[in-house]
Amino acid sequence: MDAAEQSLRQSLSEKSSSVESQGNAVRALKASRAGKPEIDAAIDLLNKLKLEKSAVEKQLQSTITSSGNGSLNREAFRQAVVNTLERRLFYIPSFKIYRGVAGLFDYGPPGCAVKSNVLSFWRQHFILEENMLEVDCPCVTPEVVLKASGHVDKFTDLMVKDEKTGTCYRADHLLKDYCTDKLEKDLTISAEKAAEFKDVLAVMEDYSPEELGAKLKEYGITAPDTKNPLSDPYPFNLMFQTSIGPSGLIPGYMRPETAQGIFVNFKDLYYYNGRKLPFAAAQIGQAFRNEISPRQGLLRVREFTLAEIEHFVDPENKSHPKFSDVSKLEFLMFPREEQMSGQSAKKLCIGEAVAKGTVNNETLGYFIGRVYLFLTRLGIDKERLRFRQHLANEMAHYAADCWDAEIESSYGWIECVGIADRSAYDLRAHSEKSGVALVAEEKYAEPKELEKLVINPVKKELGLAFKGNQKNVVESLEAMNEKEAMEMKASLESKGEVEFYVCTLGKNVIIKKNMVSISKEKKKEHQRVFTPSVIEPSFGIGRIIYCLYEHCFSTRPSKAGDEQLNVFRFPPLVAPIKCTVFPLVQNQQFEEATKVISKELTSVGISHKIDITGTSIGKRYARTDELGVPFAITVDSDTSVTIRERDSKDQVRVSLEEAASVVSSVAEGKMTWQDVWARFPHHSSAAADE
Ligand code: AMP
Repeated sequence: MDAAEQSLRQSLSEKSSSVESQGNAVRALKASRAGKPEIDAAIDLLNKLKLEKSAVEKQLQSTITSSGNGSLNREAFRQAVVNTLERRLFYIPSFKIYRGVAGLFDYGPPGCAVKSNVLSFWRQHFILEENMLEVDCPCVTPEVVLKASGHVDKFTDLMVKDEKTGTCYRADHLLKDYCTDKLEKDLTISAEKAAEFKDVLAVMEDYSPEELGAKLKEYGITAPDTKNPLSDPYPFNLMFQTSIGPSGLIPGYMRPETAQGIFVNFKDLYYYNGRKLPFAAAQIGQAFRNEISPRQGLLRVREFTLAEIEHFVDPENKSHPKFSDVSKLEFLMFPREEQMSGQSAKKLCIGEAVAKGTVNNETLGYFIGRVYLFLTRLGIDKERLRFRQHLANEMAHYAADCWDAEIESSYGWIECVGIADRSAYDLRAHSEKSGVALVAEEKYAEPKELEKLVINPVKKELGLAFKGNQKNVVESLEAMNEKEAMEMKASLESKGEVEFYVCTLGKNVIIKKNMVSISKEKKKEHQRVFTPSVIEPSFGIGRIIYCLYEHCFSTRPSKAGDEQLNVFRFPPLVAPIKCTVFPLVQNQQFEEATKVISKELTSVGISHKIDITGTSIGKRYARTDELGVPFAITVDSDTSVTIRERDSKDQVRVSLEEAASVVSSVAEGKMTWQDVWARFPHHSSAAADE
């Protein structure tokens, strides 16, 4: 816990005891009918102590708020953003006329336009830049695929049920809410208790169902809606189950991620790529997760768009030819050590982070740098973007290193992109399950003489000894690595038998000398065959878009100063509409000119909207600012028009003929607004505004 917060909590608890004992003293004086001067003096002291206590309370409240925990301002800000988004149809709760379904949302017209801009920039920034191979696989996936990937057995969250109503909750969320609420709203808890809650928040991801259940009981946590008792936590699989075909005999699921579609196509894609590594495949598509109790609006939903890259690389060479393009970038990084020692994220140079081994390898570092460029170009505030390394306990056992791009929003720091070195896990799992070798080859220029490990289980002896379990023992023996095999060989030679753990049986068995032969043989090899490693950047498109909405949202006073106007300061790249065209007054001449400009804007591919309503120009500007439209053309003569830039509200005057091409150049980034300002007559607006 922050030292200032700790000492304030300490001081608050001392002040509270002083107030209490002085209160008792006053009551005692009154009861003993002490003299008035004596009672008055005691009351004065009591009032002074109360004032001191309330000053410390205020200080503590503001420390909590400024350290980022204060939820009140954040909630008010979020409400303003969400109201604007819903009113302007950026999104709509799905099936609203039937009261909607939690965790399902529609994108309305401006929302669709923003999403399409984000995805087309994603394609340009990643797929085009790296020559990635894009695929588009079905959402409905047969069970065998997700069994191999581990999702059928392990894609779970811990759930608790209201014992009376049956309402379900995510167990860790209830514990998290309880601890955060206590830390933010209960100023009376001691410094020790506050430290305990912070500790629970840090380690709760690691809790077993039993540990989580014990904590819920210890804190007396009940169902939030009814205060009824809760069941013990148990795992709930997040995949939507279905069956494929009318017989109901082929079980399937709606995919929880798009990655598996790429892995199962690895062999064909590798051939398509001329059997060369490294290469990357990419997929944009819907993913489905039956979240237990979706909250956090657009951030935790049950169907969402993922954009995923699987970059296949030789595990022995994870360098990246374009690493130098990003190596000088500096941004907020939050390595494991800093998290463990209670420090905060700090600016690091990605080149140095890779050189020092903080980031496992160049390819992972390259993608972290590219993700940083992608998000900041979209309009994410670089001060509210950090790359957080997974703690050892968060990472799957096979992963070499993982970093999340986290964006700060009114909900706190949110994981929006996961960038993981998943080693060879996925390809191996599908090779084993399907029997199709998902491997790559490296041809040697000259044949190499290599010593190879040869393990030959003697099936007859193993069959006699282990009967039905023979297959499991054979597979485990064959899967031994060199070190394990050579240790077994040595033990068998010295002792004649050895204990051997068979993971698929979950127990040790005794292997005797006659059951397996282990040797090393020299062989001439012309090529090396290996399972590639996979580096996976996985983008939650909806989360990125929501954070972008928050980062771009601001309010400013109207000219009369009587109301606050909303503005989405989207960069032109993502703005849903690039330009609005207004005839200043309703007359035929201006409306004709408006049509000409609109036609030209269409021909240069600039999305725009015409507003011919008779409302004041100020109101029309306010309407377009609220949609985040970066430029507005006002037709106020039949020879020239003004172009207004949303954020500065400055205006330039250009001829009617040039209007569309100027807007198109500046909207597509071929020119800056400063260039336009320097080139055309202008006035530092506000004057005509509002
Ligand atoms: P994961 O495979 O769990 O690492 O998720 C990949 C990405 O998907 C995350 O970085 C999130 O951006 C996004 N994501 C995961 N779950 C959800 C959800 N329920 N709603 C929206 N986005 C999600």
